[in-house]
Amino acid sequence: MGVLEGKKGLILGIANDKSIAWGVTKSCHREGAELGFNYLGDALEKRVRPLAESVGSTLVEPLDVSDDAQLDDFFAKVEAKWGKLDFLVHSIAYADKNALKEPFSQTSRQAFQQALDISAYSFIACAQRAAPLMAEGSAMLTMSYLGSVRAVPNYNVMGVAKAALEASTRYLAYDLGTQGIRVNAISAGPIRTLAASGIGDFRTLMSKAARGSMLKRNVTQEEVGNAACYLLSDWASGVTGEVHYVDGGFSGGVGDPGEV
Ligand code: NAD
Repeated sequence: MGVLEGKKGLILGIANDKSIAWGVTKSCHREGAELGFNYLGDALEKRVRPLAESVGSTLVEPLDVSDDAQLDDFFAKVEAKWGKLDFLVHSIAYADKNALKEPFSQTSRQAFQQALDISAYSFIACAQRAAPLMAEGSAMLTMSYLGSVRAVPNYNVMGVAKAALEASTRYLAYDLGTQGIRVNAISAGPIRTLAASGIGDFRTLMSKAARGSMLKRNVTQEEVGNAACYLLSDWASGVTGEVHYVDGGFSGGVGDPGEV
């Protein structure tokens, strides 16, 4: 019997089969969870729907997390279909491409607000709509990166957004802990995905992360997925407000200090 058997969970943020959210989906499906998904726009629906159907899902709805009306509508559909929710995975981020290439000091107000809104506030917006559907023992999870606590070349405003996301994880965990709901983040090492392709010189980041890690390699979507399953399951019943690194040991700092 899988560790998520009998649980219903939302996985937000699949763009394609390279998405970290798809790695999480495969693990959660293998562990017995019933899953629901969102997609951003018609173009991505064509990618997401077949993936969702391949894991037996019948809950696939549009959701742009920057729009409160869409958030209300999405979670109303979840409540109507399932009536309850055992876990929520938030695997969503966005920043203007130029803001990930230009010097950080040139970040515009608009790029800052958009990155923080979609990549950090949206976790709070989802949590406040998901929590009323959750009973004690439920769990929420988001995806972060080391750029939250270190200045990583080209990560720029997204690093600031991840710092806000990690702080939000702790405050949500504090707040929702009184209801027995756990809230954690995974800080993943760099993985080649659609979102990652927007980060300037991502290839160099990948190779430095592999060389500087204890395992001397990059991590995979599947490894993030397996760690996610643990954090979403009852096995992690005493774990909340945590940022859990899945980065082959890079953040432990055995690599060259200059290698990020
Ligand atoms: P991805 O492109 O596959 O996923 C990003 C998702 O965000 C997409 O599905 C996209 O549709 C969604 N999204 C963007 N704006 C949205 C909006 N307004 N409303 C709804 N959805 C929206 O890339 P990924 O790398 O799998 O990213 C998933 C998460 O993992 C992100 O938070 C990212 O920062 C984080 N992360 C990625 C890496 C990496 O190296 N790839 C490392 C650590 C953390």
